[in-house]
Amino acid sequence: MNKFTTYTIKEIHKAYRDKLLTPTNFVDLCLQKVKQTNELNAFVFVTDDEVENHAIESEKRFYIDKVTKPLDGISIGIKDNFCTSNIPTTCASEMLRNFVPTYNATVYARLRAAGACLIGKCNLDEFAMGSGTVDSIFGPTRNPWGYKSEDWNIAGGSSGGSAVAVSTGACVAAIGSDTGGSTRNPAALCGIVGLKPTYGLVSRYGLIPLVNSMDVPGILCRTVEDAAMILNCVAGPDLFDSTTIKKEYHPVSLKDDFDLSTVKIGIPREYHCEGMSEEVIDTWRYVVDLLEKEKAMISSISLPHTSVSIAVYSILNQCEVASNMARYDGLEYGLRTKEQYSTEELYASSRSLGFNNVVRSRIFAGNYFLLTRNYEKYFMKAMKLRRLISDDFKNVFHGEANVDLLLTPTTLSDAPSYKSFVSKRNRDQCAFQDYCTQPANMAGIPAISIPIRLSENKLPLSLQLMGPILSEELLLNVARKIETLVKFPILDKV
Ligand code: GLN
Repeated sequence: MNKFTTYTIKEIHKAYRDKLLTPTNFVDLCLQKVKQTNELNAFVFVTDDEVENHAIESEKRFYIDKVTKPLDGISIGIKDNFCTSNIPTTCASEMLRNFVPTYNATVYARLRAAGACLIGKCNLDEFAMGSGTVDSIFGPTRNPWGYKSEDWNIAGGSSGGSAVAVSTGACVAAIGSDTGGSTRNPAALCGIVGLKPTYGLVSRYGLIPLVNSMDVPGILCRTVEDAAMILNCVAGPDLFDSTTIKKEYHPVSLKDDFDLSTVKIGIPREYHCEGMSEEVIDTWRYVVDLLEKEKAMISSISLPHTSVSIAVYSILNQCEVASNMARYDGLEYGLRTKEQYSTEELYASSRSLGFNNVVRSRIFAGNYFLLTRNYEKYFMKAMKLRRLISDDFKNVFHGEANVDLLLTPTTLSDAPSYKSFVSKRNRDQCAFQDYCTQPANMAGIPAISIPIRLSENKLPLSLQLMGPILSEELLLNVARKIETLVKFPILDKV
């Protein structure tokens, strides 16, 4: 293990200033890590040439200009559903296998403007539809914890490639997307920090959409402090995305002496659900005890509509998918099959070859829900329930309970083995994996997953904090406090 590839952003910058390391050495170490961990399949495309150039630019700023940018020489990975100019962007789908965008997603453009160096594009479930990174045309991503070539666990998803890239040290930070938990879930299963910011705080421009009303670019890092630094570089209004929050962004700041005694934390009863492992429940209790010792005020609260969230999400997801996927028709861009006789046949053959079963079945279901005769029964009803789920959060944050944050598990268990996971259908995989994460997307509120400790199987167990809209500063301060109290081990032997 190379110690530099476990360093935080601040530590790397100090090593650059002390000349113990240079940006070009560092990205070479990261590229070596990519090679060593090739079997885990975190990357779908490694940008060796680009990263060398990015590192040379940073090196010049460090040692010649002496004016540096906040992420100079910091290696990053980007989930392959964010557009990167002149670099393939496939969504892990046959449909976009040969797609090379001509423009950059805003998050990537901002990271580059801050000096970050792109190591590569990270694997995902096709079009981010999944919770395991098991449905990609490039094959599944494998969890590095306890990895054995014959028997391994899922990385979580759909941003599994981004999570593995960060946990193995192939990059310092990675961008994922989070529609129902896709950043927090793989972060939790791979033992790193996963932040889903408030909806609209970070631009979606250039993120190939899954569910426009819920998608948020997510941040995966090894520490909370790194996540805060990345957030400060990517957040804020964007003219290219009309759904970004128009208010000027004030960078979050973390306080070393942050005092928990003024913080009220709610424990939602409904998250203690069927199927949650004893180890997860114990871990939840363990952190509640730690917080109480730090004098945080803990209370049990209720979010009564939690259990309908998965069904509501599934309807809304499929409706938005049906409309988003309509653009892939074999004409404008994407896969176009050769043998076809009519326009209808061209659509049908391009889509049946271009999409996997999961995508196709969501398009079918979405179109069914959107039929005039079904619209009220499914779509409108789901929209009403979405409002109630969102109101549950408003009530506990602003009503009588008046809590500042909520603490829940991120997942119901540690990482399942690949074999057991793929024996279930996509719908059941998601229902199990997304139970705790997905309601936050319904309400657009920020949430963060923090690794806590290892299970008996020596796999990471993580908890989630959620807060009201735009409460990132408090959320990250409390998350950092938890991080320092639990001292989660770093992944070695990779
Ligand atoms: N598992 C959920 C789905 O497949 C969420 C995915 C995500 O957050 N991108 O829709």
